[in-house]
Amino acid sequence: MTVRPHLLLTPGPTPLHPAAREALGGESLGHMDPEVFALNGEIQADLRTLYGAPDGTFTALLAGTGSLGMEAGFANLAEPGDEVLIGVNGSFGARMAEMAARHGAHVRTVTAAPGEPLSPAAFADALAGGDVRLVAVVHGETSTGVLNPLPEIAEAVRGSGALLSVDAVTTAGMQPFDMAGLGADYVYTGSQKCLSAPPGVAPIAVSGRALARHAARRTPTALWYADFAGLRDYWEGHSYHHTVPVGLHFALHAALRAALDEGLPQRQVRAAEVGRGVLAALEPLGFSPFVPDPAQRLPTVLALRLPPGLDDAATRAALRARSVSVAGGMGPTAGQIWRLGLMGEGARPALYHRFLTELEAVLG
Ligand code: PLP
Repeated sequence: MTVRPHLLLTPGPTPLHPAAREALGGESLGHMDPEVFALNGEIQADLRTLYGAPDGTFTALLAGTGSLGMEAGFANLAEPGDEVLIGVNGSFGARMAEMAARHGAHVRTVTAAPGEPLSPAAFADALAGGDVRLVAVVHGETSTGVLNPLPEIAEAVRGSGALLSVDAVTTAGMQPFDMAGLGADYVYTGSQKCLSAPPGVAPIAVSGRALARHAARRTPTALWYADFAGLRDYWEGHSYHHTVPVGLHFALHAALRAALDEGLPQRQVRAAEVGRGVLAALEPLGFSPFVPDPAQRLPTVLALRLPPGLDDAATRAALRARSVSVAGGMGPTAGQIWRLGLMGEGARPALYHRFLTELEAVLG
């Protein structure tokens, strides 16, 4: 089946980086091959750079998408009955609460309305006097385009004794991430977001403190497939755990190297510049930012209210017929907003020039 050239402007997956595309076409090797272990070692080192991870951090790829990264955190770092505090201001925060509950945690939430950031003070209040084992927060809430104030939330968590898990799915790879400075214990992303690799692997980082907490569990991790102990057997001990998707490792390796070679600060500037240009071009057409305060906007996902009278589904279908994909809202924002990806290879002016031409043709 041949797919025509496609303008993929969703907030993930993003267009493949050319180096990842090329790597996908390479020779097949087994998951226990010494060259694959060497490749994995380079990936682990590059992930430490990607996340700004301190010494003692374990990095690896999970064989699944960002949601597996999310679930692995709760499965490994919370035990049935543990108190877990979760920030919920959109669909992905809600997904975390659902997963943590399914793993038997006693879930409490800090909430904010869709389009608004979480309050660090609310985390401090919720942590006071409690026995919270794990705090989980989404850095960039993709469903609404909100950037949560992670440094301030991390500050509220530090010293509480709780581990901090950060969903960096829409941020890591498009800006410097400071796991060490934040004191974060678990961080994950998805390969198909800011790194522009194919979907299917989730890069994770686990702090030394989180590994110690995991080693002291009273109960085995219920999610065998992503048990940190089993993952370390493979990634550090080079013994078989499961058959990792070697082709995706090659593609991720190439895309991650390309991101680090370009530079994370440079990529942050690129996303911001493209985002500003797109917004300036769309505002005269009647689109307006869903998040009013620019400081609270996620730089990698531009969430826009639709112009009055614009038919969301019909307009996106007309764009799709011209081989252009953008995302609509999720949950409460369905039908009200569009979400445009500014991650990895999606944050390119040439793509958005073509998008504007196509959109103007569709709108007549
Ligand atoms: N977390 C966030 C913030 C996301 O945006 C997404 C996907 O869009 C996920 C988690 C889940 O990732 P995946 O769809 O790769 O499983």
